[in-house]
Amino acid sequence: MKPWEDKIRRVVPYVPGEQPKGQGIIKLNTNENPYPPAPGVRKALEELRTEELRKYPDPTVKTLAGCLADYYKVEPDQVFVGVGSDDVLAMAFLAFFNSEKPILFPDISYSFYKVWAELFGIPYETAPLDEAFLIRPEDYYRENGGVIFPNPNAPTGLLMDLKQVEDVLAHNQDVIVIVDEAYIDFGGKSALELLEKYENLLVVQTFSKARSMAGMRIGFAVGSRELIRILQDVKYSFNSYTMNLPSLVLGVEAVRDDAYFRETIGRIVDTREKAKERLKRLGFSFPDSMSNFIFASHEKASASELFEALKGQGIYVRYFNQPRLENYLRITIGTDEEMEKLFSFLECYLKDMA
Ligand code: PMP
Repeated sequence: MKPWEDKIRRVVPYVPGEQPKGQGIIKLNTNENPYPPAPGVRKALEELRTEELRKYPDPTVKTLAGCLADYYKVEPDQVFVGVGSDDVLAMAFLAFFNSEKPILFPDISYSFYKVWAELFGIPYETAPLDEAFLIRPEDYYRENGGVIFPNPNAPTGLLMDLKQVEDVLAHNQDVIVIVDEAYIDFGGKSALELLEKYENLLVVQTFSKARSMAGMRIGFAVGSRELIRILQDVKYSFNSYTMNLPSLVLGVEAVRDDAYFRETIGRIVDTREKAKERLKRLGFSFPDSMSNFIFASHEKASASELFEALKGQGIYVRYFNQPRLENYLRITIGTDEEMEKLFSFLECYLKDMA
């Protein structure tokens, strides 16, 4: 052992989904939006002058935060913007989860929560989902150092209604409760409307899914002025210029085009509902997803074998080799054409198995 080895911080990192390159690949593995960003985003990108990159971007992110505040009908100082919601969530963990008591989150959930807790030395406990993969609000009634859960949950896609979200909040008014709404636009009701009632609530959303901009890395949190100010203090203790200039400019354009936003969501939801029917007919079962992915398991086909077979055909989905999840595949909703190719392959594969 080298002398420095016991004095360094070691972590087991989060493993993101593959980003395969190549023609004809059907990428249904990281819950990206299959449609391009709003037309105004393309136009603004084309008009961006490299001369502008000479200067630092606005550290206060004023224009984009203001635009989000208008859109979500809150005050600008209730909005915090970061480099994807991963960045926002990491800062929120650092800022708000600073208790000796364990923070709570579901055992089957976004696997980054555990990684941040380990990285920052935050004690945590997980609450098991029920047999139907649902979050049980009563598991969050006990004493804790903070609560976080995604709504809809990932990778199940299951949505908690606002009554249940409020139930968790009502039982946790002495700690910060973070609702990670990465997938809320695909069919859920946001907890944003609970902000007036609960000043300990932080709602986190992203531009990576419904707004088609995973490549720009934009995420944001909305909460009480006090929580947002605390988040800003953490950010300025870390890196004043987290947001690069192109993302600030293009982010505004994405928010401005609400019609396009709603239209692409509508298409994805439509494809998702058709995909549920198709998967059912093929013998798959799955929780009733309200997100842009379906977490499906087949009665006869092994998920790990199917995952490899799909990959061999250039169709990438996500497989989690974990207890309770090992026979499921998480399939992102692509375009109708992409889904058609997936289903043609599945039909042949399952027929050959029979
Ligand atoms: N929360 C959940 C539940 C997610 O699935 C993801 C996507 N991996 C994120 C947050 C982070 O997304 P991003 O950093 O792209 O905003």
